[in-house]
Amino acid sequence: MKSDKTILLTNTYFYPLDKKQWETAQPYPPLGTLWATSTLREAGYAVSFLDNCLETTTYNFSEALETYSPDIVIIYDDGFNYLTKMCLTVMRDACFEMIEAAKEKNCQIIVSSSDSTDHYGQYLEKGADVILLGEGEETLKELIPALRTEVSKDNILGIAYKDALGIVKRNERRPVIKELDSIALPAWDLVDIEPYRKIWLDRHGYFTLNIATTRGCPYKCNWCAKPIYGNRYNSRTPEQVIEEIEWVQSLFGVHYFWMCDDIFGLKPNWVQQFLALKKERKLSFRYKIQSRADLMLKDNNLDALADSGADIIWLGAESGSQAILDAMDKGTTIEQIYTATRNLKARDVRVAFFLQFGYPGEGFDDIMKTMKMVLDLMPDEIGISVSYPLPGTTFYENVKHELSQKANWSDSDDLDLMFSNTYPPIFYKTLHRYVHSRYNIRKGRNAMYNILRGRLKGSGRKLLKMGYHLPLTLHRRWLLHKYAKQGKV
Ligand code: SF4
Repeated sequence: MKSDKTILLTNTYFYPLDKKQWETAQPYPPLGTLWATSTLREAGYAVSFLDNCLETTTYNFSEALETYSPDIVIIYDDGFNYLTKMCLTVMRDACFEMIEAAKEKNCQIIVSSSDSTDHYGQYLEKGADVILLGEGEETLKELIPALRTEVSKDNILGIAYKDALGIVKRNERRPVIKELDSIALPAWDLVDIEPYRKIWLDRHGYFTLNIATTRGCPYKCNWCAKPIYGNRYNSRTPEQVIEEIEWVQSLFGVHYFWMCDDIFGLKPNWVQQFLALKKERKLSFRYKIQSRADLMLKDNNLDALADSGADIIWLGAESGSQAILDAMDKGTTIEQIYTATRNLKARDVRVAFFLQFGYPGEGFDDIMKTMKMVLDLMPDEIGISVSYPLPGTTFYENVKHELSQKANWSDSDDLDLMFSNTYPPIFYKTLHRYVHSRYNIRKGRNAMYNILRGRLKGSGRKLLKMGYHLPLTLHRRWLLHKYAKQGKV
């Protein structure tokens, strides 16, 4: 049922509350929220959009409640950003504050996020009326009329809610959308882009935006939580993605994109078609993606990626120990990581590694194999995390009997190891810093060689960093051995 009232859509990832991420100065607008907004707008509803990404408090949300007087508030997180999948407690607390504020204004409140999908009971207790379980667009189209006419929600797939007696009900999950082109393009026209542009340009000298070409991932790395899009993999057509890129370029003049899929270009021949269309329309842009080492070696993916503007590829390398990759059910080999990295570099595509320490069974030798792999291959960037058991994963089931009271990180720099493992949590925090130190020293050493070969660009900064990290690495190595001796806690 349509109404004169507006629906207020907003999100719960506040970059400034996550100090480590805020310091990297790489914010992206909340893509998932923009997609939910465009879906309802296309269905004929009056919508308002509030972007919280760059906010430090929920103050603007309270103001928006006054300004727009919505009857329904949708707090909808961006399921395309790995940061939201960490289910950080600072963001959960912010969401609870917004629920409380919206409740005071007698709004009906819908919440959609990885965390609320996993912990819908807590969110309902705080006053949310309905939690979306998984992908939200189709569910919202059914749910909004039901909320406005107070008809039963019993048959609406993909929600959890309290019935008239206050009993929590959890309906069946809704099948994911296969035809992704059927969803309207994200509501980019509602984004205030200048604050984002300024942050990127001031810090990095270029500006980038986020685009999702697929949803879900069919692989089964046993620690990877996929509460929103699950184990299916559905792809938009290259035609629609190119259409979105052209539109976003016309709106904002952007020439760099983060293709924020779990896995970019898995569908056979997708990247090749994407490349052909980019050439046909004479578009100019570069992009970064996340992928797997084994995919880089399939068909002629490497050439198509390089030719279509791939600038940097974040590989889920995880570990330099085959035993640990096998324990994770990663399905890749160390050899593939070496070959893919070398082949990408040979094509002038930069490579970055996601690394993970602390997986059950990982010993000092495994850790040193990872260190060796990093120093052998010298990826252009590294991102280090420690194993983090999230509900719904095999890994979580395996360690849940060992979980401490704490079940979530407060922010992304928390890195607490929340289950009993080979070494104490302080070991892994030190290891994180030690690996960064060794990596920066090697970068400095490589910079020295470059200077000797007459290549000066960027070398000075790397040398300075090396000087900073040299004494640190000695201290950190000493600490590592000290903490390692403390053994399992
Ligand atoms: S390939 Fe990546 S997204 Fe897919 S299951 Fe593994 S870690 Fe998760």
